[in-house]
Amino acid sequence: MLDMYEMYKEIGISKEVYEFGEKILEDLKDRFEEFDRVCEYNQLKVLQAMRKNKVSAECLLGTTGYGYNDLGRETLERVYADTFKGEDALVRPQITCGTHALALALMSNLRPGDELLSPVGKPYDTLEEVIGIRPSQGSLAEYNITYRQVDLLSDGGFDYENIKKAINEKTKLVTIQRSKGYAMRPSFSVERIGELISFIKEIKPDVLVMVDNCYGEFVETREPLEVGADMIVGSLIKNPGGGLAPTGGYIVGKKECIENAAHRLTSPGLGKEVGASLGMNQSLFQGFFMAPTVTNSALKSAVFAANIYEKLGYHVVPNATESRHDIIQSVELKSEEALIAFCKGIQSAAPVDSYVTPEPWDMPGYDAKVIMAAGAFVQGSSIELSADGPLKPPYAVYFQGGLTWYHGKVGILMSLQKLYEANLVMDILL
Ligand SMILES: *Cc1c(COP(=O)(O)O)cnc(C)c1O
Repeated sequence: MLDMYEMYKEIGISKEVYEFGEKILEDLKDRFEEFDRVCEYNQLKVLQAMRKNKVSAECLLGTTGYGYNDLGRETLERVYADTFKGEDALVRPQITCGTHALALALMSNLRPGDELLSPVGKPYDTLEEVIGIRPSQGSLAEYNITYRQVDLLSDGGFDYENIKKAINEKTKLVTIQRSKGYAMRPSFSVERIGELISFIKEIKPDVLVMVDNCYGEFVETREPLEVGADMIVGSLIKNPGGGLAPTGGYIVGKKECIENAAHRLTSPGLGKEVGASLGMNQSLFQGFFMAPTVTNSALKSAVFAANIYEKLGYHVVPNATESRHDIIQSVELKSEEALIAFCKGIQSAAPVDSYVTPEPWDMPGYDAKVIMAAGAFVQGSSIELSADGPLKPPYAVYFQGGLTWYHGKVGILMSLQKLYEANLVMDILL
């Protein structure tokens, strides 16, 4: 007979922790079924885009040098465009990360004298220097592109009145961040993003809307281009890379927006025609094919963690029962000791570098020490199981990923195991 606990025991999970986890799981069946249905739908969507565009064995090969006539690159871009319902796409390993993709989309579609508007509050940290909120070399501000921001209302709602006031004759592009990232506000559903876009386009129909889609891909059955966005932007070492893409970023949307981005990424006159894929086509295709299932695993892991830690009395965002619009989970662990224990658990359940002990360090740009746990196949990949948090109250850990649900599960049980061993949750578990 299969004795599942024997395996967990071998990996270092105590009986109490294992049984607590199983009890939590009993109540998650309906939740998981819902995620599975979204996953099934999205798997068909990706497959159909691959069939329609006749992905062939030849597409999996790559080019070198200029990369002219790279069939794989061109087909992959068609597959992204069809899946996400855009006219065109730019999907390149030469886009180095999510921030680069966002900067590229902004810098190529804005001109001196234009204004950028964020109607959803402060954007992701790394965009502050892109925009010039914090002065930086080459920022939009240096090119005389101004920026305006309207904060969310205290209940997380859109401040329609002030958004209306902020839109003026200079407003050229509106940026909406789908995921809360590391901020304490809700993530937006595609439906809510659609409502905001309708409102804005009613006031100014020709304004361009870009959605920072990081961590949101395949969480729902629709993507923001289906509710009126002109561009969506993201990183290939998050959801759409399916854990297999070794690097890269994407922009999908209106043909003209993509043309602008391509001419900025390579050069005026060259645009999409150059850019060697260097043997990466196979990983990018296969990763995209796997992405709906991988996102599904990350969602199950996030909800499992929310339910475990909420049950233990911690404040978790999103909470145990609310709907999900991205794959990030935060848990306020209330003490330095607990935060460190949590990260040690995630690290020790990693497939790579499991024997390493994460230590808090002074990360540039942060005002407190930060601890990070990551044992990833791809450096910095946050679709793989990973966790990090600043060592200051409320000692919130942000974690995400899990290429497979079973890995997410054991990672979370291991985090709990470390808290248990440090006598931080003993009384509640028993
Ligand atoms: C990760 C992320 C980014 C930036 O991506 P990097 O790849 O880390 O540069 C931007 N916006 C959001 C919401 C993100 O989650």
